[in-house]
Amino acid sequence: MTTEPPPADGDAFTAVAGQPGLVAALRAAVAAPVHAYLLAGPAGAGTAAAAAAFAAALLCPSGGCGHCRDCRLALAGAHPDAVTFEPEGAYLRLVDAEEISRLAARTPVEGRRKVLVLTQFHRVREVGPALLKTIEEPPASTVFVILADTVPPELVTIASRCVRIDVAPLAPSTLAELLVGEGVAPEQARTAAEAAAGSLDRARLLVSDAGLAARRQAWSHLPERLDGTGATVAVAVSELLDLVEAAAEPLRRAQAGAAAELEERVAASGERGSGRSRLEASQRRALRRHRTDELRFGLATLARRYRDALVRDDTDVAARVGAVDAINAAAEALARNPNEPLLLQALFLRLPPLPRETNR
Ligand SMILES: [Zn+2]
Repeated sequence: MTTEPPPADGDAFTAVAGQPGLVAALRAAVAAPVHAYLLAGPAGAGTAAAAAAFAAALLCPSGGCGHCRDCRLALAGAHPDAVTFEPEGAYLRLVDAEEISRLAARTPVEGRRKVLVLTQFHRVREVGPALLKTIEEPPASTVFVILADTVPPELVTIASRCVRIDVAPLAPSTLAELLVGEGVAPEQARTAAEAAAGSLDRARLLVSDAGLAARRQAWSHLPERLDGTGATVAVAVSELLDLVEAAAEPLRRAQAGAAAELEERVAASGERGSGRSRLEASQRRALRRHRTDELRFGLATLARRYRDALVRDDTDVAARVGAVDAINAAAEALARNPNEPLLLQALFLRLPPLPRETNR
């Protein structure tokens, strides 16, 4: 993971945007850290940047000045004693648990301490028990920083052995402020922030996404197209999924840039340790996450349309309430990797049509 370098007057935590509570908790922990921290909150809310900053602060002789060699290397994701482990597969496997235990047992390369950042730990599944001992009793020089989007049942036992810090998604107003601070025009910042589901990464991506307004329109106008036939539904689903696919273009461009950088490094210093397969796996996951975020955004837009209709008049109330419930259920089902066309077709067949609105 990499983080923006702090400004001249900042310290290691300066780049952790919009999360004062999280930063305060980590700052307070620097003087006398325990063996493991769990940062539980959606990716994009700043947990990765916070983990890099915390690692810098734990390795820095002055507790996170932001400017010394330890800080700079840790913030750039390149400190030999700040290791980030990201599982390659969809779930953690036994080989991942073995690798984590091996990394935890290694003595620090440079200093008295090392920080092991474990990402994606909501995907721990059945290897949780294999890791429990390592995480609750690591060598005294090891500090774990565990990142998880959520805390599923398989993670509860490990969570109980950590200092847990819950991290809230960033509020749209906070996101908009951060984007404006980065030079984005206020109106554009607000639109991107509202569609970003609490993620600064996604908000930054949406800023350069010219199709956002068109996607919002397409989802919002869907109820006017519905006529109770499967044929209409099939066409609508296919069009919306095409838009979702096209929306990944800015991300694909950014990923192509990162891949090209890696190829340059490989050309200069060889394949060994290049991290190619990790980069590829992490890019695949980012695309997957982007797709799910897009579908959630679309379903949220659709639900809002039915809620607005409920407020506007009292026609068809039961059907419209049912529509909002069905849309929310479909959004939740996205977490279980469903067949997306089938999920959307089944949903759209249940939705009542809405009259055309002229002011949208
Ligand atoms: Zn420092």
